[in-house]
Amino acid sequence: MRNRHRDRQHVAYIVTCEHGGNDIPAPYAPLFRGQARLLASHRGYDPGALLTARDLARALHATLVVSTVSRLLVELNRSPGRQFRFSPIMRSAPSDVRDDVCRLHYQPYREKVEAFVARAVASGARVVHVSSHSFTPRLDGIVRRGDVGLLYDPARTRERELCLRWQRALAALRPDWIVRRNYPYIGKSDGFTSYLRRRYDGASYVGVELEVNQKHVRNGDVPAGERASVVAALREALAPRARVSRVSRARRRTRASATMRASPPARRSGASYRCESRD
Ligand SMILES: [Zn+2]
Repeated sequence: MRNRHRDRQHVAYIVTCEHGGNDIPAPYAPLFRGQARLLASHRGYDPGALLTARDLARALHATLVVSTVSRLLVELNRSPGRQFRFSPIMRSAPSDVRDDVCRLHYQPYREKVEAFVARAVASGARVVHVSSHSFTPRLDGIVRRGDVGLLYDPARTRERELCLRWQRALAALRPDWIVRRNYPYIGKSDGFTSYLRRRYDGASYVGVELEVNQKHVRNGDVPAGERASVVAALREALAPRARVSRVSRARRRTRASATMRASPPARRSGASYRCESRD
């Protein structure tokens, strides 16, 4: 009975964007004087991730929680105790400044998301959380082969299956893209989703990080058509049976266009476990 109940469980969607901008609130501007280039780089924020998050939230009728404060001020996607470790500026900032930043920016953001999840789970719902990010196409001189990455915990069945379906649906819609799982990072490493996984079992909480390669960003955003593909593929993945005919049509179109291409299709690979500090 319990499993049957779980299958019909209400789903509460939440979309978050921890690295949506590179704002530095005025009180901390003196700390960042002369750091405009660093703030504008991938170390300052995730270009394109904010608008993708908004589109995902609209399509899923999800609660949306975003921040446009730079990750160089406070890293919202790190667990307590690690939120300043990756910033060369905040690592050496006075402790009262760091406490202020935590109180005003880190805690409210984290508490908003945690409260949503706690309320939904207490009401008997299962939470599906998509955290929107983007990654730099080249790190330490190495070109990253992948257009989109889906990060999850392979030991959590619902996350694994959702990401497999999302990967397949997106590959069908965008046959020229390389869609990878647990690339360029592993989903289990420290992040907001892995923090929430430690608090909720796999039947109550499904957390996935979406990573879009920043090579797709034009004028600060991922183009609308490409965002639409990511969103449509997730919708297919969440309701595979209801939309099977649309997927089939998309696949038929994909096969037709593949036969017309002169070059061979891009090689797709599954999980990759090269793990570095996230950038
Ligand atoms: Zn990010």
